[in-house]
Amino acid sequence: CGIVAYVGHRPARDAVLAGLRRLEYRGYDSAGIAVLNGARVDVRRKAGALGNLEAVLRDEPLPGSTTGIGHTRWATHGAPTDGNAHPHIDCTGTLAVVHNGVIENHAALHAELADAGHVFRSQTDTEVIAHLLEAELDVRAGVPESPAVAGGQPPDGGPAPSGRQEGGGGRDPAEFAAALRRVCRRLSGSFSIVAIHRDFPGVVVGARRNSPLVVGRGENEAFLASDVAAFIAATRQAVEIGQDCVVLLTSDRLDVTDFEGNPTQGRAYHVDWDA
Ligand code: GLU
Repeated sequence: CGIVAYVGHRPARDAVLAGLRRLEYRGYDSAGIAVLNGARVDVRRKAGALGNLEAVLRDEPLPGSTTGIGHTRWATHGAPTDGNAHPHIDCTGTLAVVHNGVIENHAALHAELADAGHVFRSQTDTEVIAHLLEAELDVRAGVPESPAVAGGQPPDGGPAPSGRQEGGGGRDPAEFAAALRRVCRRLSGSFSIVAIHRDFPGVVVGARRNSPLVVGRGENEAFLASDVAAFIAATRQAVEIGQDCVVLLTSDRLDVTDFEGNPTQGRAYHVDWDA
């Protein structure tokens, strides 16, 4: 239902929670948040009002990470329980995903992933996205994206900067976006997706089809949300992401491509109304 992601210099937990508050008017049945914490992602989720999630966060605080995502859920597949609340993680807890919409081919993907050994923890259609992304990032670690495109000219061989993530030891953020593109090519239905992964600190990736996604660009910080209301208290510089596009976002970098990897641009605009 509602999505907020933050990457910047402030604690992501606070920026994401504030954004979720601004999206409450849309209605929801559960809420959750995930932040990067060194070698893993930390997740807190709770059915019911945002106040319930905030109570969990008081008992089990999240670290002061500056990369995080959050979600308010309006359940379509799976009851509105703590365990079905987003974010959803992969088998090893290296990545977290939130999703608005419906993955129509989730049953077939679930069967395929379960056969390959993925263990599911929820009844949502969303969880297949976490496992697909895990599989793409594991199997293809370091492998160029091009082989995924059968025959012909893969645009994804393209100009992705291959410099390593600063701070050392990280993987090229372009790899994360490329993996999400391959996942999107396998999904049918409607989705706004946002994800973080421990190997890509300071990076948020997102994708959309038949469901909205908009970037907010501030001073050394950026947001990715389902609605500008989530971030206009922090910035009014927005970039609307087009249909069937994937976004790679850092505090100062925004790359948008279609699902094949062809560079494209969102529509930049200034939000001049009050939410
Ligand atoms: N289909 C997903 C679920 O039931 C997402 C629902 C939503 O858009 O909040 O978990």
